[in-house]
Amino acid sequence: MNAARAQEIRDNLERVRERIAKAEMSAGRSPGSVTLIAVSKKMPADDIRAAIALGQRDFGENYAQELRDKRVELDGEDIRWHYIGPLQSNKVRYVAGHTALLHTIDSVELLEETNRRTLDGQTQDCLLQVNVGGEVQKRGIAPSRLGQLLDAFATADRLRCVGLMTIPPIGDDAERVRPIFAELRALLEREAKVSREHVALSALSMGMSQDLEVAIAEGATLVRIGTALFGERR
Ligand SMILES: *Cc1c(COP(=O)(O)O)cnc(C)c1O
Repeated sequence: MNAARAQEIRDNLERVRERIAKAEMSAGRSPGSVTLIAVSKKMPADDIRAAIALGQRDFGENYAQELRDKRVELDGEDIRWHYIGPLQSNKVRYVAGHTALLHTIDSVELLEETNRRTLDGQTQDCLLQVNVGGEVQKRGIAPSRLGQLLDAFATADRLRCVGLMTIPPIGDDAERVRPIFAELRALLEREAKVSREHVALSALSMGMSQDLEVAIAEGATLVRIGTALFGERR
C-alpha cells in the first residue's frame, strides 16, 4: 500500500481514538469502556491491514458477500468481524457463525434463520436493531415489539442476544440524535431487568463518525466509525 494512505489511516485512527478517550472522560466512563468498530465497507483489504498494524481489531461490514470475501482474503488475521448491514434471509449463511457480533437482527424470521445457519456447538452473539426514530423506510424493530422479539431467543439455542443497536435518521445533527440514543439506552435498561433465556443485555451499538461523542455520553459501548477513519466512500 502507498505510504500516504498508510499515514492517512494512522492519523485518522489516532484522532478517532482521542475523540473516544475524551468522550469517555467527560461522560465519567472508564477509559476503554467503548469499543471502536472500524467500518471498512467498500474499503480494500489493505486498508484493514493498515489498521490492524496499528492495533485495531474490530471491523464492521455492511454487505454479507463483501464480508465473506474479506474474511477469506484476510484469513489468519486477528480480526473480530461485526456485521452491521441489513440482513436478508438468503444471505444469513455468509455471516451466521462467522462474526463476533451480528448487529442487525430485527425479526423472528431472521433470528430463526440465523439460529439455523449457525453450526452446532457455536454461539453467535447478536444485537437487536431497534427503529427508535420510527421512520417508515428504516429497518429495525419498533420499540413496542422489542420484548416479544427478546422472548423469541428462548428457542434459539445457538444464539445469544447481548444488546441493542440503532441507526438514527440521516443528516440530523449530533444534538438532535441525543434523544434517540437516550431512548435506546432506556430500552436496554428496562429489558435488562427481565430474565430471559439466551439473553444477557449489556451492549449498546450506537454512534458513527458524526455523533460518537453524543453516543458515548448516552452510554454507547460500541461505536461504528467509517468515514472518520477511512475517508469518504466512493
Ligand atoms: C456505514 C455505516 C457506519 C459508518 O458510518 P460513518 O458515518 O461513515 O462513520 C456505521 N453504522 C452503519 C450501520 C453503517 O451502515
